[in-house]
Amino acid sequence: MHRSDGFAADSPKVRQAASQDTAIWWIRRDLRLADNPALLAAAEHQYLIPVYIHEPDDDLGAASAWWLHHSLLALQQTLCKLGSNLILRQGRAHEVLDSLIKDNGVTAVYWNRQYSPTQRARDSQIKRTLRERGLRVESFNSHLLLEPWQNTRDGHPYKVFTPFWKACLKLGIDHAPHSAPTQLRPTPRLNSARLEALNLLPRSPWDGGLCSTWNVGELAAWQQLQTFLTRHLHDYPEGRNRPAEPGSSRLSPHLAFGEISPRQIVYAVRAQQHAHPATSDESVRIFLSELGWREFGYHLLYHHPATIQESLNPRWCVLHWPEVDNTYWQAWIRGQTGIPLVDAGMRELWHTGWMHNRVRMNVASLLTKNMLIPWQYGERWFADTLVDFDLASNVQGWQWTAGCGADAAPYFRIFNPVLQGEKFDPQGDYVRRWVPELAHLPPRWIHRPWEAPAPVLNAAGIRLGHDYPYPVVDLAASRTRALEFFAALKRGPEE
Ligand SMILES: Cc1cc2nc3c(=O)[nH]c(=O)nc-3n(C[C@H](O)[C@H](O)[C@H](O)COP(=O)(O)OP(=O)(O)OC[C@H]3O[C@@H](n4cnc5c(N)ncnc54)[C@H](O)[C@@H]3O)c2cc1C
Repeated sequence: MHRSDGFAADSPKVRQAASQDTAIWWIRRDLRLADNPALLAAAEHQYLIPVYIHEPDDDLGAASAWWLHHSLLALQQTLCKLGSNLILRQGRAHEVLDSLIKDNGVTAVYWNRQYSPTQRARDSQIKRTLRERGLRVESFNSHLLLEPWQNTRDGHPYKVFTPFWKACLKLGIDHAPHSAPTQLRPTPRLNSARLEALNLLPRSPWDGGLCSTWNVGELAAWQQLQTFLTRHLHDYPEGRNRPAEPGSSRLSPHLAFGEISPRQIVYAVRAQQHAHPATSDESVRIFLSELGWREFGYHLLYHHPATIQESLNPRWCVLHWPEVDNTYWQAWIRGQTGIPLVDAGMRELWHTGWMHNRVRMNVASLLTKNMLIPWQYGERWFADTLVDFDLASNVQGWQWTAGCGADAAPYFRIFNPVLQGEKFDPQGDYVRRWVPELAHLPPRWIHRPWEAPAPVLNAAGIRLGHDYPYPVVDLAASRTRALEFFAALKRGPEE
């Protein structure tokens, strides 16, 4: 990391830069060189300042902070190889940009767009102010296949996924990605905070599981994509549903931090299909539609910004939620509910910062329906613990499962984690990996240990209630309670 190097703001080197044409690449969730329009625009200028600004109110979850640390480190190394440098600063974005502009004769500022309500408000304010001062300021799309405002029906946003995605496909999702620059303009020698000073790494060493699970950075993202394309894409329609196997791409944290762009992924999928015509259209169609769900999340976030806290379905406001049951909540976050699939998922999340999509739906359904805890609680827990936390996808995933979002699974669709486990983890391998207490139970009982006969439990070395809990909720009774609770929705205000 390039440290504070003692160059005063008016040193000859800096003055040399100041008299030239210098551009800032304001780095946010675009921690890559390839397919990066803001970087390409900035690289046209004589001097380039790649800056990452850590803002005081950056509400980063612990797992995301861990990822960000390693991703900045990787980007720094890549930039150095190309003759540039990564400048790290802490403070309010507009103040940091201001001081960089003043001290370095900056003529242009470029960034790739972000879409949360606070990010949009901050960015438009900065853009307006800097343009008024005569700077060239441009923002670009690098995070999505299409901008959230590009795709509407007669000016109205979509609320249902299928027509939304069909319309996206019609508009066209194939865009040739930009190549990474092979050399970069020099960066003036500037003060930079030390990466460690951003305090992104945990104080106590709980991150061993994250370290052993993930390779972080642009190169790692690209390698992960190649592994998925060559080994798993052909079986994606089936493989993506089996939590014990690496059947999905696991690109989500790389996408969340912009180490790879969705356009690069689509392009690479097409190339793979071209090179290996045996790759079925069905596999490609289903995989690309998952990227479509990501787009849909951003579409909803952009057009309904209040949904980061409120349910999209206004009927939800008639519900009077019971007080949160702390026993349920503690059991859920600790993976001690006594329901094996759910506990496996919550422990996988704690250990690796990631959870399989099917299991995410099951743990979310148990929390919001069987335990009657509002979706916002689960959403915030995921925000803190997921390495792939993405506001748009997370809010959408929680609201979809709770039944209050767009295209919602109706409130009366309540996942049964026992049947789901038996269907998607038939041998119990996923549960065995994350709930080792149950490792010796045969497949027939692994998803329902409380029904296993005593000799089977004895043979597996399990004393229920000691080594592994009885279920904290009775699945059948809590289902009935949830259905009665949600029946109030039938009397709620019209959408
Ligand atoms: C309650 C809940 C919370 C979720 N929170 C997040 C989150 O914070 N961040 C996040 O990236 N995803 C979230 N998802 C969506 C999904 O679970 C993950 O994107 C997926 O598990 C990532 O694994 P993968 O990269 O192997 O996915 P793949 O199956 O390989 O899919 C490829 C890419 O498509 C996107 N994608 C896939 N499924 C979805 C989906 N249902 N919604 C939106 N995008 C999708 C992801 O970017 C993913 O990397 C959530 C889902 C639920 C049910």
